[in-house]
Amino acid sequence: MTHWTLVTGANRGLGLELVRQLLADGARVVATCRQPGRAQALNALAAEYPGHLKVLPLDVGDAASREELAREWPLAAGREARIGLLVNNAGVLHGGERFGALTEEILDDSLRTNVVGPLLLTQALAPLLADGARVANLSSQLGSIAGTTRFGTPSYAISKAALNMATVQLAHALRERGIVVVALHPGWVRTDMGGAQATETPEESVAGLRRVIAGLGAADSGRFLDWTGASLPW
Ligand code: NDP
Repeated sequence: MTHWTLVTGANRGLGLELVRQLLADGARVVATCRQPGRAQALNALAAEYPGHLKVLPLDVGDAASREELAREWPLAAGREARIGLLVNNAGVLHGGERFGALTEEILDDSLRTNVVGPLLLTQALAPLLADGARVANLSSQLGSIAGTTRFGTPSYAISKAALNMATVQLAHALRERGIVVVALHPGWVRTDMGGAQATETPEESVAGLRRVIAGLGAADSGRFLDWTGASLPW
C-alpha cells in the first residue's frame, strides 16, 4: 500500500515547496494549514494532482483541531491509509524581542506552536503512522544551546531547543515500531520567516531535506541534522 506524507503549515514557505516537490515525484500528500479556503497555491495544486493531494484544516496549537484531523483522516485518505512521513513544519518566529520587555503572550505562543503542537500532533497521529515511518520536526540552528553565543529571538530559540528534546522523547517512544524521528535545520531560507537576505532558496533547502530524510536509518532516530545531513550540536 502507498503511504501518505502529512505536512503541517503547508500553505506557504518551506511547507508549500515540500508539497510541490513531493507531488512532482508522484507521492500522495495530505497538506494541512490553518485556513484551507485561503490557501490558493495549495488549492491550485489539488486541482492539478487530483487524488494525490488532500488539503485539510489544522491549527497545530489547537487541541480540538489536532483531534479533528485524526478523526478526518479515514475520510480524507481512506480507512486503511497510513502515514509514511509526517513533517512537523508549521512554526512561528516572533521578532523584535528585547530583554526587559519579554512577554508571556509571545513565549506562550512560541511554545504552543513550535513545541506543544508538533509533540501532541505526533502523539495524536501515532496510531496512523506506518511501522517504519519517518517523523521530521523542522527545528532550527537557533535552538542549539551549544551554538548560542548572543541574546536573540529567545522565545523562538527556547521553543526550538524544547522541540529538540521533544524529538528525542518521541524517538524513544516510537522506536519499537521502527519509526525514526529527527530534528532538522533547513538552512537559512528565503521565505517570509527567513527573509530576502537568506542564503538558501526553498527549492534547495527542501531538496536537501528530502535527501536527508530518504537516507535516514534506525540509528539516526533522535538526531539533530541540517539540510546537508551534517550533525548539529545540541
Ligand atoms: P514561514 O513563516 O514562511 O511559514 C510558516 C508556516 O507555518 C505557515 O504556513 C504558517 O501558516 C504556519 N503556521 C504558523 N503557526 C501555525 C499554527 N498554529 N498552525 C498551523 N500552521 C501554522 O516559515 P518557513 O516556511 O520559513 O519555516 C518552516 C519551518 O522551518 C518552521 O518551523 C521554521 O521555524 C523552520 N525554520 C525556518 C528557517 C528559515 O530560514 N526560513 C530557518 C530555520 C528553521 P499561516 O500562513 O496560517 O501563518
